[in-house]
Amino acid sequence: MKGRKLLMIPGPIEFEPEVLQALGMATTSHVAPDFIEVFGNSLELMRQVWKSPKGQPFIVSGTGTLAMDMAAANLIEQGDRVLVISTGYFGKRFKDILDRYGANTTILEAPTGEDVPLEAIEKELKTGNFKALTITHVDTSTGILVDPKPIVKLAQKYNTLSILDGVCSVAGEEINQDEWGLDVVLTGSQKAIGVPPGLALLMASEKAMEVWKNRKTPVCNYYADWNNWLPIMSAYEERRPSYFGTPAVNLIVALETSLKIICKEGMDKRVKRHQLLAKAFRAGITALDLEILPKTKQIAANTLTAVYYPKGIDGAALLSKIASNDVIVAGGLLSEIKTSYFRIGHMGSVSSNDLIAVLGAIERALLELGHDMVSGKSLQAFQNELLRSN
Ligand code: PMP
Repeated sequence: MKGRKLLMIPGPIEFEPEVLQALGMATTSHVAPDFIEVFGNSLELMRQVWKSPKGQPFIVSGTGTLAMDMAAANLIEQGDRVLVISTGYFGKRFKDILDRYGANTTILEAPTGEDVPLEAIEKELKTGNFKALTITHVDTSTGILVDPKPIVKLAQKYNTLSILDGVCSVAGEEINQDEWGLDVVLTGSQKAIGVPPGLALLMASEKAMEVWKNRKTPVCNYYADWNNWLPIMSAYEERRPSYFGTPAVNLIVALETSLKIICKEGMDKRVKRHQLLAKAFRAGITALDLEILPKTKQIAANTLTAVYYPKGIDGAALLSKIASNDVIVAGGLLSEIKTSYFRIGHMGSVSSNDLIAVLGAIERALLELGHDMVSGKSLQAFQNELLRSN
């Protein structure tokens, strides 16, 4: 594939050839028996990936933001208190969405590179009557990973729904929705799920569905209203034709293909692969004396890495040199430090060979820009870390 560049941004990612082939099939009717089967299978496979045998899955055309919107629109009513735990750009987005639906939001913002201490979360919850809290599992702007388990325990203690933005984590980081007691876990297709952009995917717990059913006011968003979508999801699971909004037929065929690939690998193995590769990648980056944005390795994501540019190196020039070495990485996103760091996605079907290519391209780009360093150091550290862990 001459001229192909390796796409290593935090979504969209590199997709499996089988997934892209599935996308290119002749489009069928959304009520064709074959497609009903594919949709039904996809809903069932989602429960395996989310580890949520009891959950209610939703597959709707849209992006991760629509999945966030759907959680807020269906679960929140005017004046409900919601606690937003923010570790970057996407935490703030959740607050904006919730505010639109009239929520009374309180945001706990972590300093850049850190997470929010549990004590601060409990202190807030103690003030009473929070209907829900939101967690960004991996904030893609900072590469910070939050452990949802202790936060969900606190949410349960204070009778609060827990909503996980898993856009940059589902099918990459460890998630055990039912066992952990998470009420909503949502994502978009273009990240570790491994399907081109265009699908909003969400799993709601029995409790979340109960809270939604007992709403006193109508859902203030026509397209996102579960009243419109629940009968459709139920029909596809029962292998019956139905219609509300035309489903993205080709994307859903691609989704089934990707979910099958994910389940064939197995979620536990897949999470380990992400952890191993991320650890080795961080070792490679730090061997170049580059600084990683998360302040400790415990909170460093396994789906992407955010790295500060070295002193004296122009960020835009570095990104364009990396691109001219046929690897695409992403610039910064967090407004306060946007021009001082860059981000590398390593999720989905990522392999050690992909990351060797990335490290090689970063090294060459730095050397071409006159950065004072020894070539080969990052590759050596990466290899050593992989050999040590295997
Ligand atoms: N949340 C997180 C953590 C994300 O990374 C993103 C996308 N980068 C979103 C939400 C929004 O998803 P989308 O761009 O698919 O709307």
